[in-house]
Amino acid sequence: MKARYQFRFYPTDQQQQSLAQLFGCVRVVWNDALAICKQTEKLPSNNDLQKLVITQAKKTLDRSWLSDVSNIPLQQSVADLGVAYKNFFDSLKGKRKGKKVGTPKFKKKTGRQSARFRIGGFSIKGDEVYLAKIGNVKPVWSRQLPSAPTSVTVIKDCANRYFLSFVVEIEPIHIDAKNQSIGIDLGIKTFAVMSNSETAVSPNYSKKDRKIRKLQRKLARQQKGSLRREISRLKIAKQHNRIADTRKDFLHKLSTKIVSENQTIVLEDLNVSGMVKNRKLARVISLQGWREFRVLCEAKSEKLNRDFRVINRWEPTSQTCSCCGYRWGKIDLSVRSVLCLNCNIEHDRDENASRNIEMVGMGHRHDLKRTGSDCQTTSVASCCEPSRITAL
Ligand SMILES: [Zn+2]
Repeated sequence: MKARYQFRFYPTDQQQQSLAQLFGCVRVVWNDALAICKQTEKLPSNNDLQKLVITQAKKTLDRSWLSDVSNIPLQQSVADLGVAYKNFFDSLKGKRKGKKVGTPKFKKKTGRQSARFRIGGFSIKGDEVYLAKIGNVKPVWSRQLPSAPTSVTVIKDCANRYFLSFVVEIEPIHIDAKNQSIGIDLGIKTFAVMSNSETAVSPNYSKKDRKIRKLQRKLARQQKGSLRREISRLKIAKQHNRIADTRKDFLHKLSTKIVSENQTIVLEDLNVSGMVKNRKLARVISLQGWREFRVLCEAKSEKLNRDFRVINRWEPTSQTCSCCGYRWGKIDLSVRSVLCLNCNIEHDRDENASRNIEMVGMGHRHDLKRTGSDCQTTSVASCCEPSRITAL
């Protein structure tokens, strides 16, 4: 399986300029190729597209600067567009699992920029990485690469941070788990309540989030295109990054712990997009990162040879006693603990739910069903760890 390893790096001023030029060329090639694809009825082949937007374009006056950068990321840009189209068509035909994929979009000058180098366009020598026509850069190696990478993507995010993201092939690891299975109930107050009575409280994002909202109100009043507005935009991007980094760190640590300790991991399939429509809850839920957590658990389960299961969200996991199976029916969200009238045991609401989730997932409850394996989260190479908790 493939995994991504990401490291931060700090380019010199000269390299920043070369990278800006490269990002620009990659973007133009992508946009030119996409414009051609949108005009033609049948998609041109990868080779034909490359000839049109790279080889022939270089001979024209207004695209001659394409020759100033390495050809490899340009070819990759066209190839990536082909993949984007394939994903879109597969998704349309239902051949692709997971979220629906939209049509490829034009790339913008503002925001995140990237360029991808295949073998031949980059090499690793000692602790330096050579990028064609950019030079040597020295990433912050927070951990070792498990094998030689097949490609590297240079990323500049919207807070102007630079990263190298390597794609490497990894083998699943076979280490026995301490416990057989675990059920996890995800919530807002407590991020996760587990069937073994453990809980995980998520970091408090509200202070940082308030700061963002304040900055956004300021941004809205500032004139478009002004320097002050750009400064505000950058501040907001940095603040968003801080929240994202904190969350990523928390979710990675929690998912690693859960997946390494348990052979079978059972989650509930949450209708996040439906819940996000509730405006009051939307912001809090988006900050939690439930989906991110599920994607991480799933990817790490594959890596460690674990069994990852998702049960149907319509299962009445909070309406049934996890001890005797007695069904007490719907209870209000404010009710935190329930006394079962049948077996006289008092349950914590979330803990009871997580036990039910585990039982349904393990097939121990035949009155409640497990959803088929068709509801998988698809995410490519998502088991990258936060190897970039570096100061801004
Ligand atoms: Zn009971």
